[in-house]
Amino acid sequence: MTRFNEIAENLAEVQGRIDASAKMSGRNVEDITLIAVTKTFPVSDIEILKELGIHDFGENRDADGAEKARMVSAQWHFQGQIQSNKIKSICSWSHVIHSLDDARHFEIIEKFASHPLDIFLQVSLDGADNRGGANREALYQLASLVQASSTHRLLGLMAVAPLGQSAPEAFTSLAQIHQEFVTEFKEATFLSAGMSGDFEEAILHGATHVRIGSSILGSR
Ligand SMILES: *Cc1c(COP(=O)(O)O)cnc(C)c1O
Repeated sequence: MTRFNEIAENLAEVQGRIDASAKMSGRNVEDITLIAVTKTFPVSDIEILKELGIHDFGENRDADGAEKARMVSAQWHFQGQIQSNKIKSICSWSHVIHSLDDARHFEIIEKFASHPLDIFLQVSLDGADNRGGANREALYQLASLVQASSTHRLLGLMAVAPLGQSAPEAFTSLAQIHQEFVTEFKEATFLSAGMSGDFEEAILHGATHVRIGSSILGSR
């Protein structure tokens, strides 16, 4: 089988599952954005996905994202852990940042970003910070800061299901955190949640952006 056919088949399967989960939760599939996570995969795969109608791509590392974004024009998402010395570069090639969890990082974004960014705040669901994410208190402070920006837009919250929590558990608590959050940050209605292993569960709990790599491109 050619790489094109392999990716086309995987993508169709994933899209079918997204469709079914959207229906099951009484939502429109058009309201769910599929971000193809292309980390570690070559530009040729991204071009295949573009041909298949995908225009949102996600990367975790600045250097890889910068290079791929230079070669493929698309909506580029950054979802990796943010290092302060990389922010200026990340802001130069990405359009959406999913993993902001530190007010100091946002100050650097305000200073250096060359274009407006859409921003998700990453929230920690277990209080541990090894996988990134702000705790509740930091989250609200950070959200106030982003909301006050005249350049950048606060889209909503992002989370990764923590190790040791089932997907239903994790996404139930994320949905609760988000519901409370939007009462204060009314525009922040979007929810970035769900990867290859758990995107259906995430959609059932309100995810509007799913970040899927290996189910489409194969194991890394
Ligand atoms: C790698 C990654 C994904 C995609 O993971 P898959 O299991 O390959 O679908 C999504 N979100 C984040 C934050 C990631 O690091």
